[in-house]
Amino acid sequence: MFNIVLFGPPGAGKGTQALKLVEMYNLIHLSTGDILRAEMKRNSPLGQKVKSLIEKGELVPDEIVIELIRENLSNNKDAAGFIFDGFPRTIEQAKSLDEMLSRESLDIALMLTLEVEEEELISRILLRGQNSGRADDSNPDIIKNRIKVYNEQTAPVAEYYKKQGKHASIDNMGTIENTFDQLKAHVDNWQ
Ligand code: ADP
Repeated sequence: MFNIVLFGPPGAGKGTQALKLVEMYNLIHLSTGDILRAEMKRNSPLGQKVKSLIEKGELVPDEIVIELIRENLSNNKDAAGFIFDGFPRTIEQAKSLDEMLSRESLDIALMLTLEVEEEELISRILLRGQNSGRADDSNPDIIKNRIKVYNEQTAPVAEYYKKQGKHASIDNMGTIENTFDQLKAHVDNWQ
């Protein structure tokens, strides 16, 4: 199994690139944001519990997202590999992911971080908000809070993978295709 963490701030383009990687390498895309939004849409008890946190741009508690990932991993034991998108977002989540994978004699091969300047992030998210229907994509104050939460709680996760020699950064200020070519080069080099 070949497992990647696609990392970077909100609006960096993780979802877009994840879909392209899934197609090329036949991986399973696990986006905690997508899973949580599906729960909100179904108005499930879990969806109701996380709605106000997500709409404020705060993180959902670690136990909740870790459990969602645990379920998805055990439902996909035959996968060629996973792309984790939006997870892990805290050191605690990163440690849990390593534990879950190592129990199955698996690990993370690479963390690939998409780098985008802050002003550009805000305008990309506001643009997405015009169609996405996401409450957290439409309000500049909430977007700024998400970036703040990322810088404070999530960015340190990159260090966790850097220490393991598994981290690379990719500039995503250019085109989708150019960024994808760079991601592909990292994956092909590894394999
Ligand atoms: P983006 O990367 O654009 O911020 P996501 O779809 O990844 O969007 O996440 C949307 C929201 O879902 C986050 O702001 C947060 O509230 C919640 N969320 C998603 N993944 C996690 C996670 N791993 N831990 C905690 N909260 C999460």
